[in-house]
Amino acid sequence: MIPAVRGTHDILPGEIERWQHVERTARSLCDRYGYVEVRTPVIEREELFAKGTGETTDIVQKEMYSFTDKGGERITLRPEATPSMVRAFVEHSLEHALPAAKLYSMGPMFRYERPQKGRYRQFHQLDVEIFGLDDAAVDAEVIDLAWSLVRELGIEQIELLINSVGCADCRPAFQAALLAALGDDLPKLCQDCQRRAATNPLRIYDCKVPADQPIIDRLPHSIDYLDEKCATHFAAVRRHLDTWGIPWTLSHRLVRGLDYYTRTTFEILGRTLGAQNALLGGGRYDGLVKQLGGPDRTGIGFAAGLERLVLALPEGAGAGTTPRAFVAAIGEEARDEALRLLRELRQAGLAASMEFEGRSMKAQMKRADRLGARVTLIVGGDELARGEVTLRDMRGSEQRPVRRTEAVEAARSILGGR
Ligand code: AMP
Repeated sequence: MIPAVRGTHDILPGEIERWQHVERTARSLCDRYGYVEVRTPVIEREELFAKGTGETTDIVQKEMYSFTDKGGERITLRPEATPSMVRAFVEHSLEHALPAAKLYSMGPMFRYERPQKGRYRQFHQLDVEIFGLDDAAVDAEVIDLAWSLVRELGIEQIELLINSVGCADCRPAFQAALLAALGDDLPKLCQDCQRRAATNPLRIYDCKVPADQPIIDRLPHSIDYLDEKCATHFAAVRRHLDTWGIPWTLSHRLVRGLDYYTRTTFEILGRTLGAQNALLGGGRYDGLVKQLGGPDRTGIGFAAGLERLVLALPEGAGAGTTPRAFVAAIGEEARDEALRLLRELRQAGLAASMEFEGRSMKAQMKRADRLGARVTLIVGGDELARGEVTLRDMRGSEQRPVRRTEAVEAARSILGGR
């Protein structure tokens, strides 16, 4: 046996129903909030992430699956969706093509991380992006969509964290204050933090090393350094959330691991998840579209981990399969007629199965039970001669003859449906 690659996983019957439930709920909400779906390739040019996600990020420095293809081109399996969505937005001039640049996408992402519960090397994200809308109500709407998704899925014990990391104008003052506050403590921090201090000091807030925490807790807060515009914007975001009754907690540490964030950042944590408890995260990235060669348009979005949403779902979510009919044939001569009926049921929009191996009636009924059939249509020589089939309601085990010509409608009346 050749096992699956470490950090990847099969999604099998029994679990797939929970996935489909999450995907259906996400699509329905995105549609209600006015987002349209975009599907971008899984492979992109490596430079897209180096430039988009950022050279100094852990993702680009340590986690990308990159290779040289047979044509000598550097290719990367996408580690996140935002750079691809921005690329598609720019490449196809979507701001002119669509009434509103509100996009969503779902699919696999790839990161070479240490696998553990809730963290994989191939995982799946719902990604939501808005381009070119600046109002604080847009930030609040994106957060509301994220919040509503988690709530509609019935996930309990969640917490919304928000912060503002300012913009290109006010961030330098914050960074300077941060480095000044670190002062003599810098050499006491971990190697990663020392590297971050030189490349992207905000990233120090992401540090999880226990010994560093007392020092990091004393560092200044980005919201104390916002310029007037950023402060007004952030106040408006909080006001909208309050108006909609969405509870939030201000988290000074929430700077997020990527280079492109500006102003609002947010995360929703699932308290039942253990160490990898971020269900989703996102924020504003006002310079990214331009940086990737597009027009000067703002951006905001989030990515939710589907594995984590599925893990956090309540017991029994997504259960319940389509009610199904079973066709049983008695004897060889009834088989062709049974096959005809099976296809008629399926063509009429009903879920239907049959046992093809010509086994005994008892074996066929057992199969019907295992499939969870709601109704069985028994086709036998005697019934056929009378132009009838026998209809058996599997719940009450009641049997009655129905006209062959009315068999499909009789099945439908038990199964429901159009
Ligand atoms: P990020 O793109 O890092 O902001 O992550 C957004 C969301 O994707 C996280 O909140 C997780 O739910 C999910 N996620 C990120 N990395 C992984 C991973 N390696 N395995 C599973 N889910 C992940």
